[in-house]
Amino acid sequence: MKYKELSVKEFLDEVKEGNIDLEDFISEVIEEIKRINESFNYFVYISEEQAIAQAENIKKRIKKGENGGRLLGLPISVKDCICCEGIPSRAGSKILEGYIPPFDSTAVRKIKEEGGIIIGKTSQDEFGFGSFCTNVGIGFKIPKNPFDPERSTGGSSGGAAGITASLNYPHIALAESTGGSISCPASFCGCVGLTPTYGRVSRYGLIDFANSLDKIGPIGKRVYDCALLLSVIAGEDNMDQTTIKQGEEDYTKYLKEEKDEVKIGIPKEYFGEGVDERISKLILNVVGSVEGMEYEECSLPYTKYGVPTYYLIALSEASTNLAKFCGMRYGLHLPLKGDFNEYFSNVRSEGLGDEAKRRIILGTFARMKGYRDRYYIKAMKIRTMIINDFKKAFKKYDVLITPTMPILPPKFDELSKLELIQMYMLDLCTNPPNVAGIPHISIPCGKIEGLPIGMQIMADHMEERKVLVVARKFEKELNLSG
Ligand code: GLN
Repeated sequence: MKYKELSVKEFLDEVKEGNIDLEDFISEVIEEIKRINESFNYFVYISEEQAIAQAENIKKRIKKGENGGRLLGLPISVKDCICCEGIPSRAGSKILEGYIPPFDSTAVRKIKEEGGIIIGKTSQDEFGFGSFCTNVGIGFKIPKNPFDPERSTGGSSGGAAGITASLNYPHIALAESTGGSISCPASFCGCVGLTPTYGRVSRYGLIDFANSLDKIGPIGKRVYDCALLLSVIAGEDNMDQTTIKQGEEDYTKYLKEEKDEVKIGIPKEYFGEGVDERISKLILNVVGSVEGMEYEECSLPYTKYGVPTYYLIALSEASTNLAKFCGMRYGLHLPLKGDFNEYFSNVRSEGLGDEAKRRIILGTFARMKGYRDRYYIKAMKIRTMIINDFKKAFKKYDVLITPTMPILPPKFDELSKLELIQMYMLDLCTNPPNVAGIPHISIPCGKIEGLPIGMQIMADHMEERKVLVVARKFEKELNLSG
């Protein structure tokens, strides 16, 4: 049987029918990702042995007639910051060199329970600090865009999106977003990326970036793939007290729903200054071309505070989270020299990249006595206003639609010419929904200069269903998949 070109859904059906030799299949997939990785750097670790062992196990399970799991035999890649038992998990940082978690994160545990096979850890900006996957940790390689290797995959889940787009076998990626790290690379690589409501998916076993913002979510080739993986990983978890009480939900069943009329808000702040006009035009054309979509312009006046609010909160929280990496508990160790402060400084100086160091300094500053009220606390207050802005809009509209990224996937040499603030500003469409913790998806909606463009669909807290129904409707109409 030919495994290539099978969609996730077709593959899972074939496994149930007993038509797929899982060991053979997984070996073929591993060979292929090794080949792709040589030129594109999507994986920081390929867990070949574990994957084959898992495949053997599942084969035995099937032989015994246990062919229940919702992801039976399906290859799943995992962003490096999400812990997997027995597999190096370093959040893309040298400071976690040698760390092999003795446990699975809740999301990974659930995936394994459903028969998903972990094929490796995907590359990312160090700890998630970036939008282009160029801030990789010391010794890590920068992933390249599958459409043009001179361009960025987007970040920070660049490896996850890159391999999803490049791999011609059924696969879903487990990724993570703090301020846009699922949507951005999904958009630049032409994939679907779903960021769930904050608290929908357990963060247990995630190497934190910013605790009040981090969300684990899927990147897939199709809307169905994201809905399927979300169904598996979502749920309340005793190990993460910020998870929301919720029942089991099969998100794939919503994709069959035909909502008669969808009310769409087009927030004008996401189509103005800083956004490539060609992208704005494309998104508006797409929205206008689909029947049964009622849309009108609206305004979210607090949008302009999205980026500064995000960076203040994210950096403040990151600076406290990184304090635990001191070379004494886990990860990088150096020969003991000098007093604790000297040792600690040496470990951080050798283990962390420039952006991580910068964020520790800026975040610490924003939390310091005397500045705390002016920066961190103020950002928290503005966050509430951004949430209220969205809440007001969702009284009127089912979803809001915007571009995902304001520019085409950039070339590496273009990025190197940008000032830091200019880079941060490119998060202008993705920071606000992340700050608010609302669910959003990026789906491919066309190409400009042969490069994929993503469209962002956002809905109110816990309304993943609306996001998915609308995303599927566009996917079907645009004929992006069957
Ligand atoms: N680009 C944002 C940052 O640099 C968001 C990254 C993320 O979501 N991890 O912080």
